[in-house]
Amino acid sequence: MPDDGHDRPQLRVGIIGTGFSGLGTAIELLRKGRHRMSQRAQAPDVVLFERSHEVGGTWRDNTYPGCACDIPSQLYSFSCAPNPDWTRSYPLQAEIQRYLVDIADRYDLRRRIRFGTEITEARWDDRHRRWELATSTGDVELVDVLIAGTGPLSQPSIPDVAGLDDFRGVLFHSAAWRHDHDLSGRRVGVIGTGASAIQIVPEIAPVTERTVVFQRTPPWVLPRLDRELTDGERWLFRNVPLTQRLGRLGVYARQELLFRAFDAQSKAQATVRSMATKYIEQHVEDPELRRTVTPSYAVGCKRILISNDWYPALTRDDVDLVTDPIRRIVPEGVETGDGRLHEVDTLVLATGFRATDFLFPLKLYGRDGTLLDDAWRDRAATLNGISSAGFPNLFFVVGPNTGLGHNSIVSMIEAQCRYIRAAIDALGKRGASSIEARHDAQERFVAWADAELADSIWASGCSSWYLTEGGEKPRIDTLWPRSTMSYWLRTRLFAPGDYSFA
Ligand code: NAP
Repeated sequence: MPDDGHDRPQLRVGIIGTGFSGLGTAIELLRKGRHRMSQRAQAPDVVLFERSHEVGGTWRDNTYPGCACDIPSQLYSFSCAPNPDWTRSYPLQAEIQRYLVDIADRYDLRRRIRFGTEITEARWDDRHRRWELATSTGDVELVDVLIAGTGPLSQPSIPDVAGLDDFRGVLFHSAAWRHDHDLSGRRVGVIGTGASAIQIVPEIAPVTERTVVFQRTPPWVLPRLDRELTDGERWLFRNVPLTQRLGRLGVYARQELLFRAFDAQSKAQATVRSMATKYIEQHVEDPELRRTVTPSYAVGCKRILISNDWYPALTRDDVDLVTDPIRRIVPEGVETGDGRLHEVDTLVLATGFRATDFLFPLKLYGRDGTLLDDAWRDRAATLNGISSAGFPNLFFVVGPNTGLGHNSIVSMIEAQCRYIRAAIDALGKRGASSIEARHDAQERFVAWADAELADSIWASGCSSWYLTEGGEKPRIDTLWPRSTMSYWLRTRLFAPGDYSFA
């Protein structure tokens, strides 16, 4: 290939998904590419595939009552595109979605997005060194580089409970809220007490006749220090952007500090646990209910939740908290292990997402025709959560071992986007047509991550979506083991020695 980037054939990059990951990668590739075009590299031709008809990913799909973010708004934007318009210190779903829609427009990405197009199968063609993509529309797309920005929270998890199909009422998942189904005066069952359920229940309880919450494991909950942002603050963010940047830095540092609590023996853990316990005592008088809502596992083992209205909602006369395990669903409602029938006419599955089934249901075949699901059967093995040996010219955003329990995922996404851009640049600069993680580099990364995670708080004895069940012992393929700053440091510079080029 010629040494001059301008004469080189333009790379075609396909991105799956248009949530924070997909949009962020597109911006990074196009913006930086254009910026440097005069010097060397040519901006790739970027195409995004979106199964739905609007951008936004999980923030487009989750529209349940009360849906909001538990990460401060200051951190919930791309650093290249701060949002001076946030109305609250913790953003609501609608304004995050508005922000992402605006991003797609502002960066002129819509013309590159194939809406209503799901990638159902991706096959690496080693002869032509490119990916062949089968789409739900029946087309075949060819791309040189494929980026999976599908996110861990895109496929609802439907619980394996007997009788779900027998239910006579209206049943839906929290990520597919039935806005056409008015809950006024209804008896509503909510399965789950995770991040979604604790936002839903306080919102719906005042309108339902009765809300029955089915709890398998109580969450640790801290107060939500939320407030409205003032017009003055918004004016300042808009007219003196440095103030927002400094604010973002401060909030980022505060969130990073929370990571210290993720050491079960630490003082920070004891402090957070005592805060959360006091919070229960303040809001729940009944000793039996207190016991029921107090977790027995370490704070942070499951995601720490924040809410000001969860405990008050549980103490309402018209809310029941049921802790007997669900035995089965019957036409009239939910039958629990003690033989009781809890009659409901609406059932909300606030049961989370298939976070450990990476890329599900996409079938992705790498070099030698290996199916990714097979390659990852024992462990979702990657290099930095971004690439996987045996799968050339493929990159993941929020891939394995890059999820977080304490800070904004946008910071991880931005680090990954930059790294992927550098990897694609390296491909171009070397005149190579494929780039692939080296096995030895990947093994080192996986061994390091496993060692870090083995004794971590997330493996300290609770069930959560962080864990993959099935083997002798649950394993953790989802989380980054350290602070986001350490991820940033690790991925700051692209390491060509970790890759082979052909
Ligand atoms: P989740 O945290 O995975 O919670 C699922 C809930 O369903 C858990 O309480 C779980 O119980 C329960 N459950 C699952 N299967 C069950 C079964 N068969 N029987 C009884 N209970 C069952 O899901 P989520 O609440 O949707 O949240 C998922 C993730 O989305 C969060 O961790 C967070 O990252 C993200 N999220 C974020 C926000 C935000 O504010 N940024 C809001 C919502 C969601 P166990 O605990 O016993 O497993």
